[in-house]
Amino acid sequence: MLFDPRPKTEKKDLYDRERELKEFQEALKLGENIILLLGIRRLGKSSLLNVGLKESNFPYSKVDVRSLYFAYGTIPQDVLARKIIESLLASEKSLYLTLRKILESIKGIKISGIHVEFERRQDLPSIFERIDLWAEREGKKVVIAFDEAQYLRLSGVRYDGLIAYAIDNLPNIIFILTGSEVGMLHDFLGLDNPKKPLFGRQYEEIVLDRFTRDESFDFLRRGFEELNANIPDEEIEEVVNRIDGIVGWLTLYGYLRGVKKLGKEESLISLYSKAKALIEEELSHILAYSKRYKFILKAVALGNTRWKNIKEYVEFRTGRINDAKFSNLLKNLVKYGYLEKRDGEYIIPDPLVKEIVAN
Ligand code: ADP
Ligand code: MG
Repeated sequence: MLFDPRPKTEKKDLYDRERELKEFQEALKLGENIILLLGIRRLGKSSLLNVGLKESNFPYSKVDVRSLYFAYGTIPQDVLARKIIESLLASEKSLYLTLRKILESIKGIKISGIHVEFERRQDLPSIFERIDLWAEREGKKVVIAFDEAQYLRLSGVRYDGLIAYAIDNLPNIIFILTGSEVGMLHDFLGLDNPKKPLFGRQYEEIVLDRFTRDESFDFLRRGFEELNANIPDEEIEEVVNRIDGIVGWLTLYGYLRGVKKLGKEESLISLYSKAKALIEEELSHILAYSKRYKFILKAVALGNTRWKNIKEYVEFRTGRINDAKFSNLLKNLVKYGYLEKRDGEYIIPDPLVKEIVAN
């Protein structure tokens, strides 16, 4: 169902994204070692990852790094290692037994079904080595996917170095990393930063964009048709005007209106209140670093688009701040994906974020 609010897992439920899926499969076929899937929140990265992996026929492991971070406040190596193995075992049906055998040859790893237990500390490099060995013996490549990989930076473990080690030494492992906080992910990986371990490695980047107006309209039209819901074109047009081409919000509207069968106004109200709760929760994590982020976003939402005007607004609300410090906060908001800079002007790419921070 197009309006299923969970990340999609089946191609039939994924609207379009044909180009991105093709790039995904081609990057895998060409044997790229690192594939990045980038785009702001709710553009469908997790969905594309799920469907792409399923369609690829590669053995794969997928870990949601963000939920690990929220559960532990860091990314413990042991937990990450266990999650990687469990997900790989779950994805692999036909070669499960050989995979299990190789992994169980590591001292202290006990496997039952797809449940893994470590009886002693394990380190990821050894586990990656076994996975690579297994892949080589089976004549396969294995994908290790980290969803919202920028959270790997928030750990005492140098995961960038670890990935670099695997890229250089384990030719049968491919990494796919998604990131909503595109700048943060790039900073963390440092693929273009000579001071970082992954510098200079080949990588393929797949960037998700919002739907165009026509695509957004067509998406809603088809979603309602699939549910046999008779929704007038004028309403669809109005919704697209208000919430733009961010598929996550369009899906949520479709779900409330078409599945929950709320009226148009009720659906919009419910969409806004759900979006508000979600966005405020997400923002709370960066506001923990600086309260000024809120005022910067508010300044932009209220129509200040230039560095100088934004700074004036923020100073008016929070007191003086020096230029370098202010610039840094602004840059971070771009890296987090909350702001975009176009021709020297700052904008908020998500219309619901804009509306919510303005109020
Ligand atoms: P992201 O990982 O980028 O935040 P998700 O994959 O979680 O985005 O998708 C956000 C929402 O949009 C989910 O409800 C998902 O079902 C829906 N969605 C994303 N991409 C598509 C698509 N191409 N077709 C239909 N629904 C989609
Ligand atoms: Mg996601």
